Amino acid sequence: MPITSESRGLISTEKMRSILKIKSEIIHAAGDYLRANGFIEILPVILSPVTDPLRHTVMAGEVDYYGQRLQLTKSMILHKQVALRTLDRIFSFSPNIRFEPPHYADCGRYLTEFVQLDLEVKDGTRDQLISLGEELLTTIIGHLQKNCSDELHRLSRELTLPSIPFERITYEKAQQTFGKEFDIPLSQAKKNPIWVVDFPLAVREFYDREDKARSGILVDMDLIYPHGFGEALSGGEREYTLERILTRLSQSGVPHAQLAAYLKIVQEGIPPSAGFGIGIERLTRYICGLERIEDARLFAKPPGTILTI
Ligand code: AMP
Ligand code: MG
Repeated sequence: MPITSESRGLISTEKMRSILKIKSEIIHAAGDYLRANGFIEILPVILSPVTDPLRHTVMAGEVDYYGQRLQLTKSMILHKQVALRTLDRIFSFSPNIRFEPPHYADCGRYLTEFVQLDLEVKDGTRDQLISLGEELLTTIIGHLQKNCSDELHRLSRELTLPSIPFERITYEKAQQTFGKEFDIPLSQAKKNPIWVVDFPLAVREFYDREDKARSGILVDMDLIYPHGFGEALSGGEREYTLERILTRLSQSGVPHAQLAAYLKIVQEGIPPSAGFGIGIERLTRYICGLERIEDARLFAKPPGTILTI
């Protein structure tokens, strides 16, 4: 399906009004759930000397700031770790800028500007975060069933509450069963969300913690939506000692100097933690059953397009 001005949120329609109301209620339900569970909302960071280096093919967004080169936030992971020196459980609706390759626009799952609900728990474990993710998603769906029935009906969308706990599959098993690029085939095969766990070190970022007992395997996870909607979130337990972080950066080929400001704080001490980031537009796309992610927000920016507003 081509990208139209309607699908970039530039034309006001009844359909768009329903989607935006649902998105607003997703944000409301998620925030209420997290606050009720001891989380404190922190405001997002847009500019910083450091951001998530990201392994994949994303160009850096840089800004000249009074002569200093600052990065546009690709994810708030580094700031989340630092914020846990002050607070035990945090979340933020964090705008991320990622200049993804233009052909990524074709699959309907990528935007250059999107929002992650990014959360992190001091001393958290992967199992705790998996349970939290399951409760968060089912709480949001329950809230929408109660509060957005008209809007869901207008979108011909019937939501069923996924059953908890969600199934889990290892990265290795997922590749064996669904192929090297397993996300979409796995998602198409499922009627309930499914966790992919134990990614190999070589395919992930430096901050996901390596399992002490299993060299090269990380204590991390992705959640995959059912019915072909693909990846919902990524997260895991984190590396937090300077020694481990320096080793992992070297293994990932990230120059230490690039993260000097962060490494200085790590040296002073950051706590162990676990967390995840869930894309709000992808969640809205899944909930509303939309073909393209551009339909899930106003002023959508698909990779590679020229902006008019
Ligand atoms: P990542 O840490 O790269 O896995 O990003 C965390 C989550 O943000 C993903 O699981 C997606 O839900 C969402 N996300 C990542 N990149 C994009 C993008 N370019 N457009 C929309 N959502 C994204
Ligand atoms: Mg991911």
